[in-house]
Amino acid sequence: MKGLPDYHVHTFRCGHARGPSRDFVQKAVERGLAEIGMTDHLPLYFLPVADRDPGLAMREEQFGGYIDEVLELREEFRGRIAVRLGLEADYSEGHEEELARWLARADWDLVLGSVHWVAGGWIDAPGSAARFEEEGAERLYEEYYRLLAKAARTGFFDVLAHFDLPKKFGHRPVSPRLAAEQEAIAAAVEGNCAVEISSAGLRKPVSEAYPEARLLEQIVAAGIPVTFSSDAHAPAEVGWGYDRTVALARDCGVRQFVSFEARRRVFHPLPAHSPVGGSSR
Ligand SMILES: [Zn+2]
Ligand SMILES: [Zn+2]
Repeated sequence: MKGLPDYHVHTFRCGHARGPSRDFVQKAVERGLAEIGMTDHLPLYFLPVADRDPGLAMREEQFGGYIDEVLELREEFRGRIAVRLGLEADYSEGHEEELARWLARADWDLVLGSVHWVAGGWIDAPGSAARFEEEGAERLYEEYYRLLAKAARTGFFDVLAHFDLPKKFGHRPVSPRLAAEQEAIAAAVEGNCAVEISSAGLRKPVSEAYPEARLLEQIVAAGIPVTFSSDAHAPAEVGWGYDRTVALARDCGVRQFVSFEARRRVFHPLPAHSPVGGSSR
């Protein structure tokens, strides 16, 4: 979708993405995107070193190489597409000082805030589905939104990633956790966070963008800016599904989106509907 950014893109360093980083940028150019934000997973700073699964996030010693590679791609593609230096950073309660130290190590264009670690374990890993049966979707959703709200209020994050992530495998509470959701939305306002509209959920068992329409409407009504992303883990996923996420955005009242450079946000009008699309392939 022409003129939009993809602000959630991984590299091979996270251990669960594949393909040369250059190919991700090339795909963004092919899709006509205006910007690509490389946002690989920050090392799992909040876990003991022995527990940091190299299949989930880059290792500490890869951090410098990641930054260098993104800056090289920025130069190589200058004039064709803006390559932004970003990061997907886990929020982990009680580890805020360590996170602040990590974030101080580079001049980011944007930092995505994510909550993947909920109540002592991953909420979205391949083995996480059983947790919803064992621990209850209600409890996990409430705890997730409590942490997301805390994350937003830290002020560390420019964008909250996959706002309703616990739905990934299709588990839902018997009824939406309205108070917890509202708290997270209020926190995003206070913390000056944007929210990504991510096509990644369309590729998951839940088969629905993050956030779902009901939540996106409330996010928009609260005046929270949005941006667009794919959470690409392969070059073909860059800018994928934007025909559907842009339609969702429009349906939910989105009129503009934000881009980031050096953590400053710039507002742009949402592009007019184009029948050319076809970006789900
Ligand atoms: Zn994530
Ligand atoms: Zn991601």
